[in-house]
Amino acid sequence: MLHYAQEIFEGMKAYRHADGSIWTFRPYENAARMQRSARRMALPELPSDIFIESLKQLIAVDADWVPSAPETSLYLRPFMFAKEAFLGVRPAKKVNYYVIASPAGAYFPGGVEPVNIWLSTQYSRAGKGGTGAAKTGGNYASSLLPQAEAYEKGCQQVAFLDDEGNLEELGGMNIVLVKRDGTLVTPESDSILEGITRDSILQLATDRGHVVERRSVSLDEWRSGAASGDIVGAFACGTAAVVVPIGRLLGTDFEIVHAGAEASELALSLRQELTDIQYGRVEDRHGWLTRLDA
Ligand SMILES: *Cc1c(COP(=O)(O)O)cnc(C)c1O
Repeated sequence: MLHYAQEIFEGMKAYRHADGSIWTFRPYENAARMQRSARRMALPELPSDIFIESLKQLIAVDADWVPSAPETSLYLRPFMFAKEAFLGVRPAKKVNYYVIASPAGAYFPGGVEPVNIWLSTQYSRAGKGGTGAAKTGGNYASSLLPQAEAYEKGCQQVAFLDDEGNLEELGGMNIVLVKRDGTLVTPESDSILEGITRDSILQLATDRGHVVERRSVSLDEWRSGAASGDIVGAFACGTAAVVVPIGRLLGTDFEIVHAGAEASELALSLRQELTDIQYGRVEDRHGWLTRLDA
């Protein structure tokens, strides 16, 4: 039943704290998102307590694989797929659920560098009513060709628009724009994947007094805002890289360059605060951490 692409997954990290204990970040959000992905892909919804228990079971046998060097982690990948020897088209009656893991080094060992982004206009990753809001393999399959195009253009990542020219997200990270007055603007749409990193970063920014707007954002708004100086920068966020400033957005016939330091300083300071919480270096005031090794 691989042919019909019933597959969903999650991505999260286990962090080792200074006292040796092992924690993960907002796992109930991942569990709930996996249930939403399951619903969309006609797979069974795994109860949250089984999801959390599966992470604890993995740590029970693989705790030694959680590294302790700064900014390293054990990447956790829960996933579910249809597994039935059957050719007809219908939701599978048998599915498998696994969690696999891999130690992950610091994403930016030499310090966080801004990324350059290629804006794909020939391809999209999702459409209205499609599967863009589900964490499913097919969305990644469709982003690989435009991602290869991004590399050809000298960019590290690709950004996608929706049918109406509104900004969606990157292949595997959400986008946030930074305005001169400190307002943060992020696309809201039912065809993007709601990142837990983005939600957390925006919560930390709200705590600091930033205004946060979740609404549709057109490419034109970004272009004209960057030209007038109203938009001073942008960043991308997701579990793997956490937060990365966007240096340039390159399109077929235009380029936005964010050279100023203001937005990347904000992005990096929010990144620092988030990782300080994840690694237990500051108080977890929102109750975001769950212990996995006890
Ligand atoms: C997983 C993912 C993200 C980031 O989500 P996090 O919960 O922050 O890791 C963003 N976009 C896509 C398409 C994703 O698959």
